[in-house]
Amino acid sequence: MAKRRLTEQQKRRISSNKQNLTETDNHNSDNNIFDGLVVSHHGRKLVVETEDKKQISCKFRQNLGDIACGDNVVIQLDKKSLTSQQADKQQAVVIAVKDRRNLLEKTGFGDKAKAVAANIGQVAIVCSVEPEPNPYLIDRYLVATENLGANALIIINKADLINDENEEAINKLKEIYEKIGYKALLTSIKKNIGTEALKSALIDTTSIFVGLSGVGKSSLVKMLLPESEIRIGEVSAASGEGKHTTTVSSLYHLPDGGSIIDSPGVRDFTPCNRNKENIVNGFIELEHYRGFCKFANCTHTTEPGCAIIEALKNDELSQQRVNSFRKMIEDLND
Ligand code: GDP
Ligand code: ZN
Repeated sequence: MAKRRLTEQQKRRISSNKQNLTETDNHNSDNNIFDGLVVSHHGRKLVVETEDKKQISCKFRQNLGDIACGDNVVIQLDKKSLTSQQADKQQAVVIAVKDRRNLLEKTGFGDKAKAVAANIGQVAIVCSVEPEPNPYLIDRYLVATENLGANALIIINKADLINDENEEAINKLKEIYEKIGYKALLTSIKKNIGTEALKSALIDTTSIFVGLSGVGKSSLVKMLLPESEIRIGEVSAASGEGKHTTTVSSLYHLPDGGSIIDSPGVRDFTPCNRNKENIVNGFIELEHYRGFCKFANCTHTTEPGCAIIEALKNDELSQQRVNSFRKMIEDLND
């Protein structure tokens, strides 16, 4: 898996957050300081879950930088609210953000990137039998996932719509990814196919569901979550001002273990692969051939002595994946 590369700004932020952490550690004798997990985020409001599963509404200081759902934080309870036995009446302030594994950012309107989810362990890339899957889009998601430093899970939903005409193509697509080492699942909400396999693939990690609109992401998430979790999420979201805004992300715990961070903003995340190195790192099966082309600057398209072309001839690589790779590099140059 590609190593996570930090920007200078991220490095500075982490080191300043670490400093904050040590300061708070020294004050830990004050028993109103707790570790917590951000389970809901909207605008200036956060809901943080403490280790004893209490959910506390929190404010945060701007100087902590971006905070996202999934972040591990340190909070300080408001002295007055300590006397309140009702968790939802308690107020706290986030005083530090712990070092994170990764941060999914979305560039929206204007040029400021918005943090939508942190510490993502797995990206579930959802496509469907109908509308039919777009392998190039799947590959773009895979490149983004590898560069995020998360595991990828490919879900082909609406398996109930498999028929004689599309069956071969769907199976072939699934095989291509499995051969590289990715887990790929066929699921159906309508006919309850693959749901147990999906549940076990989500255990022990924090997942997000991404993919085109209409493939069944909301239906899958809804099927996975018990009513109580959905309700908690709605309550948390409503505690921010924007019950109906798309910027609310919530973290949900799954009954069998694992969690999902979900919001419309997370779901419609569009991968944007900005540089060649990211693309090269994103095609994990090409790693094996690195350094074996005759020319160091080989573009793996027409050059003699190209290890990738040779591997294609020997059926070691998928033509479809190599096409995606070439197209991605081309798109970059455009
Ligand atoms: P999203 O835009 O990716 O969140 O997709 P939705 O969950 O809103 O689903 C889009 C449509 O696909 C809805 O009409 C669902 O009822 C339908 N759908 C979802 N899952 C399945 C499935 O497994 N089989 C079939 N046939 N339809 C499904
Ligand atoms: Zn080459």
